Amino acid sequence: MSTPPPPYPQSPVPAGQNPYAASVPPQAPTPGYGFPPPQNAGPMPGYGFPPPQGAGPMPGTGFPPPMPQGYGPSCRFCGSVPAVEATIRGHQGFLVIMKFLKLQGPFCRTCGIAAHRDMTSKSLWQGWWGFASSIINPITMLINIPQRSKINKLPPPMPGAPGTPMNPGKPIFARPGSWGLLLPVLVLVVAVIAGVTGAAHDPEYASVGDCIHNSGTSSNPDVKVVDCGSADADYKIVDRLSGTSDVEKCGNGATLGYYQEQGTSKFMLCLVPTHN
Ligand SMILES: [Zn+2]
Repeated sequence: MSTPPPPYPQSPVPAGQNPYAASVPPQAPTPGYGFPPPQNAGPMPGYGFPPPQGAGPMPGTGFPPPMPQGYGPSCRFCGSVPAVEATIRGHQGFLVIMKFLKLQGPFCRTCGIAAHRDMTSKSLWQGWWGFASSIINPITMLINIPQRSKINKLPPPMPGAPGTPMNPGKPIFARPGSWGLLLPVLVLVVAVIAGVTGAAHDPEYASVGDCIHNSGTSSNPDVKVVDCGSADADYKIVDRLSGTSDVEKCGNGATLGYYQEQGTSKFMLCLVPTHN
């Protein structure tokens, strides 16, 4: 026998009492719901403004260069035309520290001359103070010459520029800085005088007829060429031989010799005493 299965408890939940439905209460639209989410937070920076197309003032100048057509570059310092690309250099030497100065154009004629005069007159007294600097400084000034001649070829700046051209000031050699040019000349003169006076007393450059003084001993001589009339004159050179240390080869009645060997220079001074 089979009994019909008990009927499923047909307990239809009345609509509105569905626990699931009840757990999801109808949500009120949250504020802002219904608006498309903004793709970008806020308007893009600068949106709505025409983008600056490089029309703003150039950094450091404070005014837009006028850039008139047909004149090429305008002066970096005053905006004048015509102008030329040039680089003016300067040098400072402080024994161990060196400074390489550089001023880049474009320059109008007036600003270019002003920059060159200024840089050069400073280098003329600041550029020598060091061994390397004393070589670099004149090279720096030579490098400037073709730059300056480019500037010199320009006609004067046309009026109406937004800025005032620099004051070119006095020519380089009318400035006190140009006295600095005497520094290397002075050093050279001192070196030449020291060399000449040193050489005048060096037996290496002594010749027949000169007199010498020995302030050392006969085994360890310290020989200097002196005036034959001075009381220091001990010996007179009567012969000079090169490449031999043999006093026997001396002629002219020499009684003793002084031999010196220095590098490749080897020579013998053949001597007679001046005091009897
Ligand atoms: Zn200028």
